[in-house]
Amino acid sequence: MLASKMLLSTLKDTPQEAKISSHILLLRAGMIKNEVAGVFNYLPLGLRVLKKIENIIREEMDVAGSEEILCSAIQPKELWVESGRWSKYGPELIRFTDRHDREFCLGPTHEEVFTSIVRDLVKSSKSLPKNIYQIQTKYRDEVRPRFGLMRGREFIMQDAYSFDKDEAGLEASYQNMADAYTRIFTRLGLKFRTVLADTGAIGGNGSHQFMALSEVGESDVVYCDCGYAADVEKAEARSEAYEDASTLDELEKIYTPNVGTIEELEKFLNRSAKSMAKTIIYHDYVNEKFVAVMVRGDREVNEIKLVNELNSTEFELVLATPEEIEALGSYHGFCGPKGLNIELYVDEEVAKMKSMLIGANERDYHFTNVKYGRDFEGKVGFFRKAAKGDLCPCCGKPMNLERGIEVGQIFKLQTKYSVPMKATYVDENNKNVPMVMGCYGIGVTRTMAAIIEQYHDEAGIIWPLQVAPYHAVIVPINAKDEEQMKLATEIYDKLRSNRVEVILDDRAAKPGFKFKDWELIGIPYMIVCGKRANENVVEFKERKDVMNKKELASNEAVDIITEAVRNIK
Ligand code: ATP
Ligand code: MG
Repeated sequence: MLASKMLLSTLKDTPQEAKISSHILLLRAGMIKNEVAGVFNYLPLGLRVLKKIENIIREEMDVAGSEEILCSAIQPKELWVESGRWSKYGPELIRFTDRHDREFCLGPTHEEVFTSIVRDLVKSSKSLPKNIYQIQTKYRDEVRPRFGLMRGREFIMQDAYSFDKDEAGLEASYQNMADAYTRIFTRLGLKFRTVLADTGAIGGNGSHQFMALSEVGESDVVYCDCGYAADVEKAEARSEAYEDASTLDELEKIYTPNVGTIEELEKFLNRSAKSMAKTIIYHDYVNEKFVAVMVRGDREVNEIKLVNELNSTEFELVLATPEEIEALGSYHGFCGPKGLNIELYVDEEVAKMKSMLIGANERDYHFTNVKYGRDFEGKVGFFRKAAKGDLCPCCGKPMNLERGIEVGQIFKLQTKYSVPMKATYVDENNKNVPMVMGCYGIGVTRTMAAIIEQYHDEAGIIWPLQVAPYHAVIVPINAKDEEQMKLATEIYDKLRSNRVEVILDDRAAKPGFKFKDWELIGIPYMIVCGKRANENVVEFKERKDVMNKKELASNEAVDIITEAVRNIK
């Protein structure tokens, strides 16, 4: 490709709305462009990268024995009513009504559609198992679309669905897809970790996420040397050992004027948050009730575990307002379990504290020397978010914490969709049996951003060769110099005939300007034709090591690049 013909649009300055490297670089390198937050147009360079990621996924799906289809983004309400998700999915689902008053949604995911296709097409046990996938555009009206391709309202996902006769079949399909996803992320060059995950709105039991390691990730993962790794919302941890409290002092009410937060209490009483328990009150709109949950002062409530415990949904379990709290006979900032007449969920760590400080449900007062079992009781369970240093649930050693970008997730759905949607097959005894399902998803566009997060420097993107928009670029120092252009064109033709994707920068611009462009865009190899063009000598640079340029015979440079491209796995 000739640079003069390309729709290049690099930017010198950082666009204001971009906060993280991948977003900044995607915009500055002219890979994407957008008018509205969370909705993107892919420009030529960005689209080439996207297609390469998709092709790696396709190749591995072939290996895994999954067949590709393509569904519409438009889905009828009726299917979602059948699965029960029309009412459960919440405001993230983009719904619309056509001119005949028929209701639809734009698919945020495709469990219903795939289940409906397979239930209509597959009847007999002989036709199972089946594994099908698509690479297609999804729609989610995210509360906070941000960070560019990381969290869009429109994004591209690869979603696969497996249909088996029984649990054993699902186990095999799940493992097969976990292996395929591992191969995909490995081939993409990502540093990632596979972790245990919560099943969220998709439902079912048993799930893993694929986390690309990155400080800008929105997921926290705890992991242990023994191999245990889980999203903090899914993770459990051993709670500190129980201490006998037979010698405990008597309950005491203390005056804490205007001291309503844990930090303020720490200062005012000169005691650690670890010796306090906080009580958080939620309004559960699904079950039309208020509930309270207690965690240690330095902990955070794990809302996902609470949602699961209550059989509620994330968007319908909300913090109670100060007015609601007062109506319950308590006071915002001073809530506590004693005398509160609503369901109480107690994190097991709190139940094991020897003595604690709690709110007294009265403005400006707390109780101290409080003991679980003696002074209050509730339903004990794991209701906190796991944190760094927590003890591993498998081996008991302290765990580490790291941040990750969720690039994929897989779920054992079992019969969550096949039962309500009647996706059944006929077994040997002529009985209708529900298919046992799994579903699998890769955020293709988010993966593109995750690669940039792991592969960039101050100058720009450093694409791994297998996903780079082009493999190489040839830059004549002076495009008007005949000698230089002649050599550049020869190299260009040679590389093209060797199936190397190459750009010839024939633009009439200063060399420094051109170098900056290609470094920002992240082309893996650069050949510069300059002063020694008449001797067939070029300057050769690798993007991942720009400072290290060397002079090579042009043939040698061609061979190195051709060989590297041939060896792409
Ligand atoms: P998240 O927790 O980040 O909102 P999710 O768990 O809701 O994601 P899934 O339903 O598991 O997402 O979708 C499969 C994959 O699609 C995710 O692992 C992620 O890589 C990608 N994905 C989900 N939501 C978005 C989004 N808004 N923008 C870009 N990619 C997304
Ligand atoms: Mg997910």
